Amino acid sequence: MYVNKLNQLFRPERVLYYREASEEDIALIGGGKKPGSAQACGGCFGAYDQTGIFFLKGYDKPVTGVEYRMDDKRIRYPETEHTVLGAAFFYSIEIDGEIEISREAITKFFTELGRDNEAVRLFTELSVSEESGIIGVFAGGMGRKLRILYEGRVDVDRSEGIIMDDMESLDRSLLYRMAFSDPITGHHNWNHLVPFLEMPMHKGIRDYAFAHFDIKAFRVINEFFGHNVANSVLCRVVKAMEEADFIYTSARCHNDNFAMLIKDMPQEEMLEKLKAFFDGLSRLDEDPDYRIYYRCGLVPMQRSMLLGNRVADAGKFAQAMGTKLGETEITVYTDEIHEDIMWSNYIKAYVDTAIAKDEFTVFLQPKIDAVSGKLVGSEALIRWRYKGEELLPPSRFIPFFEKDNTVGKIDDIVLKKVCEALAEWKKEGRALCPVSVNLSRKQLYDRTLTEDLLRIVDSYGTDHSLIDFELTESAGYEDAEHMIRVLNELRESGFEVSMDDFGTGYSSLSLLTEMPLDTLKIDKSFVDKIGIAGEEENDIIVLKHIITLAKELGIRCLAEGAESREQVDRLVELGCNIIQGYYYSRPIPIAEFEKKYL
Ligand code: C2E
Ligand code: MG
Ligand code: MG
Repeated sequence: MYVNKLNQLFRPERVLYYREASEEDIALIGGGKKPGSAQACGGCFGAYDQTGIFFLKGYDKPVTGVEYRMDDKRIRYPETEHTVLGAAFFYSIEIDGEIEISREAITKFFTELGRDNEAVRLFTELSVSEESGIIGVFAGGMGRKLRILYEGRVDVDRSEGIIMDDMESLDRSLLYRMAFSDPITGHHNWNHLVPFLEMPMHKGIRDYAFAHFDIKAFRVINEFFGHNVANSVLCRVVKAMEEADFIYTSARCHNDNFAMLIKDMPQEEMLEKLKAFFDGLSRLDEDPDYRIYYRCGLVPMQRSMLLGNRVADAGKFAQAMGTKLGETEITVYTDEIHEDIMWSNYIKAYVDTAIAKDEFTVFLQPKIDAVSGKLVGSEALIRWRYKGEELLPPSRFIPFFEKDNTVGKIDDIVLKKVCEALAEWKKEGRALCPVSVNLSRKQLYDRTLTEDLLRIVDSYGTDHSLIDFELTESAGYEDAEHMIRVLNELRESGFEVSMDDFGTGYSSLSLLTEMPLDTLKIDKSFVDKIGIAGEEENDIIVLKHIITLAKELGIRCLAEGAESREQVDRLVELGCNIIQGYYYSRPIPIAEFEKKYL
C-alpha cells in the first residue's frame, strides 16, 4: 500500500468552484501574473501557487483556472462512505514512486485501497460528476505528491443545472473578494491561508510556525464599547499583523479569531516576540484603563509542517487551553498535547465497541466509620479493562469523555452495574449500604437528568435511598442556582447527594449554606496536610471550621484519601468520623468487596 500521508480536510460548508481563467480574471486576481512556479514545474501535472488561481496541465490542454470558494448550505457530509479514507474530504495523498496522472492511475489507486466502487470520481476542471453530485476538481501533483481536491457532496437536482448557470451569472470580482477577504477589516480571510499551508514551498516558505488567537472577553468590548470600537480593535490587530516583521502572512478567520504564519526561529524568541506583539495591542484607545488580553495557540515549526492544513485545528486546540482571566496566554502545542488528542480521538471512536464488549467495570471503595470501625457505604469508581488487558484508571479517559457527551454513557453503565449489585445483594439477604455514583459536571446540564436516572434505578427496583450521587465542586459553578435546582430534584426523588472534592473550587463556603446536601466530601488535598513535617496550624484551623460548619448545617462530613492511622485519628479529633481512603482500602472489584464487607 502506498499511502504515506493523508490529510483530512476540516469540514467547511463551502464548495470550491473552478473555472478556466480568462485574461480578465488573471489581471484581476493575479495582478496579471500567471501562476509562475506552477507553470515552471515541468514534470508535474498541475499546481496551485497563488491564492485563487491554479494551473492544470495533463488534460486535453493546459488550463489556468480560477478558484472560488463559497458557502453552500447544500453541502452534505456523508457519514458512512469513504471509510477507508475516514471521510469524504481529503485532499492530500502522497504516493510513492512515479505517478502517472491518468484516470486509470487514480482508479488503480482507489482499487488498491479496496474502494473501487466508491463514488469517488475524477473530473476535469469545473466538473460535476454524472451521478453523484460531488463537486470537485482533481488538481495536480508535485513530485511524488498527488493532490486530490474534493470539498463536498452537493445535493443538487441535476435537472436544475444550478451550479454551472450560477457560475456564469456571478460577478467575478465580487465573488473573489467575498471568497478571500474579510469585509470588516479588509484583510485576508482564512481561505487566503490555505494555499500557504498546503504548499508552502510555492510561496518560498520552507519553515514556519503557526499561531491562532482570539481576544479575551471580546463580547465585553462589543457590548460595553459598541460595535464600532470592537471593529476598530479588530482592525488594529490586523494592522499590527501586517506591520510585524516576523509574520509571513495572516488572516482574520472569523469573529475575533486570527491566524498567522510565523517565520521560523527558536521557540523562546518566538514566544518573546508574540508576547511583545500582544502587549502592544493591550490598550483600548477609547478607555486607557481597559486592558485587552489574548488567548493564543502556537504550533511550533516541526508540527506545523507535519500537519499541513490541519495545523489550524492544532492551533485552535492549544488556544482553547488558555482559560485564565486577566492575562494574555500563549499555549504551545506540545508533543504531549498531540498524543492526548490522538488518544482522545481514538478512544472516542472505540468507546462504543468497548461498551459492547463490556470492558468497563466498577470497583468499590468502602466508607468506614472510624469510631465504630463499621462500613457505612461505598463509592463506585470506574475502571476500563482496555481491550481486555490493561486496567485504565479514570484519569486516562474520563477527562476526554467529559469534552463531549460520551461521559454520560459511562456514568449510566456505572449506575446500572451498581443497581445490579444492589439487587443481587438484596436477593442474597446481605446488609445493604448506600453506594455513591459520580455524576460528571456535564450531566448537570442535561435537562432530563433526574428522569433518566430514575428510569435506570427503577428498572432494577432499587431503593432510591441506597443511591448517593456525587457532584464535584472542583471548577466552581457559574450556575450555582442551576446546581441547587438539580440537587433538590435528586433529593426530592429520594436519592442522597454528596458534594465531592470539597475545598478545591472557588465558591466553597458561601455555597454550603445554600446547597441541599446530605454529605460533604472533604478533598484529599486537605487530608494530605495533616501529619506531614511542615504541617501548618492554619490549614488545620480551616479544616476544623469546615467540619464544624457542615455539622451545624446538618450535613454529614466525610474525609477522602486518608492513608495513615495518624490522619484518621486527627480527623476523628476534628469531628470527622467517616473516612474513605487507602488506610482502610483501595477501590476493589465488587466480588472482593462482597467477601470483605458484606
Ligand atoms: P473522586 O470521585 O474524588 O474519587 C476518589 C478518588 O480518590 C478515587 O480515584 C480513589 O481511588 C482515590 N482515593 C481514595 N482514597 C485514596 C487514598 O487514600 N490515597 C490516594 N492516593 N487516592 C485515594 P480514582 O478511582 O482514580 O477516580 C478518580 C476520579 O475519577 C474520581 O474522583 C471521579 O472524579 C472520577 N470518576 C471515577 N469514576 C467515575 C465515574 O463512574 N463517573 C465519573 N463521571 N467520574 C468518575
Ligand atoms: Mg467521587
Ligand atoms: Mg473526590
